[in-house]
Amino acid sequence: MADDTTVAVLGTGIMGTAMARNLLASGMQVRAWNRSREKAEPLARDGAEVADNPEDAARGADFILTMLADTDAVEDAVGGNVLSQLANEGVWLQMSTVGEGGNERLAGLAADHGVAYVDAPVLGTKQPAEQGQLIVLASGPKAVRERSEQVFDAVGSKTVWLGEAGAGSRLKLVVNNWIVGILGVLAETVAFANAIGVDPTKFLETIEGGPLGLPYAQMKGNMMVEEDFPTSFSANLARKDAGLVLDAAEAHDLRMRIAESVAARFDEAIQAGHGEEDMAAVYRAARPENG
Ligand code: NAP
Repeated sequence: MADDTTVAVLGTGIMGTAMARNLLASGMQVRAWNRSREKAEPLARDGAEVADNPEDAARGADFILTMLADTDAVEDAVGGNVLSQLANEGVWLQMSTVGEGGNERLAGLAADHGVAYVDAPVLGTKQPAEQGQLIVLASGPKAVRERSEQVFDAVGSKTVWLGEAGAGSRLKLVVNNWIVGILGVLAETVAFANAIGVDPTKFLETIEGGPLGLPYAQMKGNMMVEEDFPTSFSANLARKDAGLVLDAAEAHDLRMRIAESVAARFDEAIQAGHGEEDMAAVYRAARPENG
């Protein structure tokens, strides 16, 4: 199905690449930009135009979709004159995870340029992104919701509208605290099992299928047992997300000691050189050999 809607996808890492492919598959035009151009180039085979810089990607586009590591990366990418390149009534769909403060900074940037801004972080990792099965936590002006759904429907299976821009990022923080916390306690549980002579596979088999046996725990727990961490979501970015949770908690006068401990575990794994591995590599900081 041909469609003349043009989406400038800024950031073609694990998530952005998969999302760009699904936009192309649904018939939209994609202009892809990535800081390291070689990561965007394979998208040319799927029909994307690979841009040399964000300005070229955004020129005359109906949407800018940002899917970058963090707030600084998004600011770097859309700073300068990029937002002004959008077509009349163009919309910025900000889908990176940037937290509460990050969202405020980026919404301010959009307002400075008079561009409609939708805060729309996602739930789901590499595989759901490849399958167009992300859940979009969208928030932003009512006037652009229907239009934005054309893009969200192509990358996700469900869009939840949550109110004014910022509500999506806040719910994403809550979910991420849950995810990062599970990873931390799972890593220590597998390490603990090993330390006291219990086969951690037995633990995973015992909880499987019951109320305690999250499919997520099975997936990440097996990675820990096998000590093989192909990246769906990097430890670096999980640590970034734990930091965003802690920043938001501090801004609202809440102390979160468990989140602090998990963040410290991630720091250990990252300092030992495992930041680009999957977040399950937090196990490397928890296992008995680590002391
Ligand atoms: P990724 O594969 O590590 O890609 C990160 C992207 O950010 C790359 O395009 C990278 O460019 C770019 N980048 C980093 N620093 C930059 C800078 N200073 N200026 C310009 N570009 C910069 O990450 P991802 O997994 O796709 O995640 C993207 C976003 O989605 C993050 O906010 C993440 O938290 C969120 N998210 C991820 C998942 C997941 O499971 N992976 C799930 C939900 C949400 P280079 O290629 O040049 O380094």
